[in-house]
Amino acid sequence: MFDLIFSFVEVSAETPDLNRTRYRALAVQIPLMYGLVIINMIALSFTLMHEAPAYLTILVPALLAPVAIYRSKLILTCDIDALSDQQIQKRLYGIIRFSVLLGPAFIAWALTLFAYGNANSQAQIAFFICLTTMASINCLTHLRQAAVILAVTSLGTTTVYFAIFGTAVFKVIAINMVLVMGAMVIVMLRTSNTFTELVQKQKELSDQSARLELLNAENMRLANLDSLTNLPNRRNFFAELSQLIEQRKTSPRRFVVGILDLSGFKLINDLFGHPAGDQLLMEVGKRLRIKLDDDIILARLGGDQFGLILPEPGSDEMLQLLGNEICNILQIPFPLREGTANIAGSLGFASYPDAGNTAEVLFERADYALCYSKQNSKGKVVLFSSEHETVIREVSTIAHRLREADLGRELSLVYQPIVDSQTGKTVAFEALARWQNPILGSIPPDVFIRSAEQSGMISQLTAILFEKALKAAAAWPDNVQLSFNLSPFDIGSHEHILRLIAMVERSAIPAKRIIFEITETAVMQDFERAKESLRLLHQLGASIALDDFGTGFSSLSYVQRMQIDRLKVDRSFIHNIETDKATQDIVRTVVDLCRNLNLECVIEGIETKQQLTILENMGCNLIQGYYFSKPLNEAGALNFLAREASILEPMIQAS
Ligand code: C2E
Ligand code: MG
Ligand code: MG
Repeated sequence: MFDLIFSFVEVSAETPDLNRTRYRALAVQIPLMYGLVIINMIALSFTLMHEAPAYLTILVPALLAPVAIYRSKLILTCDIDALSDQQIQKRLYGIIRFSVLLGPAFIAWALTLFAYGNANSQAQIAFFICLTTMASINCLTHLRQAAVILAVTSLGTTTVYFAIFGTAVFKVIAINMVLVMGAMVIVMLRTSNTFTELVQKQKELSDQSARLELLNAENMRLANLDSLTNLPNRRNFFAELSQLIEQRKTSPRRFVVGILDLSGFKLINDLFGHPAGDQLLMEVGKRLRIKLDDDIILARLGGDQFGLILPEPGSDEMLQLLGNEICNILQIPFPLREGTANIAGSLGFASYPDAGNTAEVLFERADYALCYSKQNSKGKVVLFSSEHETVIREVSTIAHRLREADLGRELSLVYQPIVDSQTGKTVAFEALARWQNPILGSIPPDVFIRSAEQSGMISQLTAILFEKALKAAAAWPDNVQLSFNLSPFDIGSHEHILRLIAMVERSAIPAKRIIFEITETAVMQDFERAKESLRLLHQLGASIALDDFGTGFSSLSYVQRMQIDRLKVDRSFIHNIETDKATQDIVRTVVDLCRNLNLECVIEGIETKQQLTILENMGCNLIQGYYFSKPLNEAGALNFLAREASILEPMIQAS
């Protein structure tokens, strides 16, 4: 029995949220209840002022009322949110205790007055006891323990009193009271249960929405994170960039966008496998993050590209310094499980607002600076400048003119002989493109080829030029080859390679007379695709030359893995070969390597007899350069061959 009472009275510590909500509701209703009790006491005291003794009509209310006011004030003035769960529980127990004490105290007082009243005032006392108890039960609905205790103690006392001392009317009133209050308690208990369920449902709902919010936050985090390096991803990078542009709009202060590209990464991926590539990217991310200040945003943009946003970049010199440091730390070998990886970084920077004031333009310009770095500065740091801007404008004008041009008529080829210096015989002609436009005049090939590459017209140009070259070569003797330059974009397109193969098959030239010149950039852009293209060209019977060797990253692994047939050493190595010992050593090493790897070696840009002698002494015989001939038109090439034959034939006959 006691256990039952105890468990009914207990305020559970397990439901702190429910307790707090209850207390919040009671904090409004309890002062209301005390207010009613005090008003009722005053009304009763007033009615019985002349009949009952003063200690009952004045002293008792004077003692009980301050206690009720104090309790109300305590509840009204407290900051419920600041109370701990334990304090709330304690206060709820306090309310139950006061219901046990104050309820019967009030009833006892009212019943004591009953003895002094006449029939009218006795009816008023019964009426007030009834109303006050009902109102109090209502006010305490949210703490059903207190409400039930109050109902039982008040009603119990009153009923017993009326049963003993009351007239028949009061006995009936007592029965009435028990019935009405009983019904009220049942309704109150049901309301209290509904309230408890409601609060618990609300709690579940708010828990659920908190969990959803957490999930959302985690989803957002994952959507903005590169899963491999744990760095911000491309989407996040552009969001940050747009946000910074927005911030700087009102007071334009410089910031810098950087794109970092790893050279040699694709090779590591191919050689060591994808897990090694992944590990390398993670290590690169870590090294960079450690190197960079916290305010610099570092993101992985995809593949082997990283993006940087430097909100406070300092001067151009400081930027250059930081860029160099970044490239230097990437040059330190990376020890991987599969072996040691050596890579290098190229960096392009573009600064806001000079280089652009939208995220797209800034990124494009940084990308341009990066490409410039790769092509012209051997992977150094390049900051986009006004000169680059001029070039871009030129290129776009050229692209526009290219689109408008009658390319079949305006494009032509000149042919530069590649001579075997030992025999003095031309072994091949390199076909070099020329473009004579009625508006722009003569445009250098590297300029219009780049423009055609950027505007997606290169395959069209290559096809026109190759057709012309095949026709011209048909007039040469069978032992003279055609060396034809391909753009990286040609190598990168399977469809285009098949088109070139079909052109060879249709032509009068056997494929073994054709050498396709490619550059390292072509191989680096998409190794697998390049490999497949070269395989098809080899299968056809053509051979492959790696052009401009020494200007890029000069990776010999490409040479081996791509089955290159010949190397063309760039002319930049030749112009100071007479005076510079280091250059001589480099060229000698390349020539020796070619011999060891069974590759043909062509030296470009020979202009003097002295240069020729140095190279011949190194054992290199295939020579291209102004010394033998500048590029010639079709007729000039035929004349050159005829002159050569007229000199050589008498010598052969004589011998
Ligand atoms: P490249 O393939 O390395 O061609 C050699 C360049 O060096 C040619 O310049 C040639 O005129 C020049 N050259 C040859 N010997 C000497 C010399 O002794 N001294 C000097 N100073 N220069 C010499 P060109 O014709 O201006 O071509 C430049 C580049 O344009 C070519 O470099 C090639 O990369 C590209 N190109 C030319 N024609 C074509 C083409 O039909 N298709 C593609 N994709 N690219 C082409
Ligand atoms: Mg070439
Ligand atoms: Mg070359």
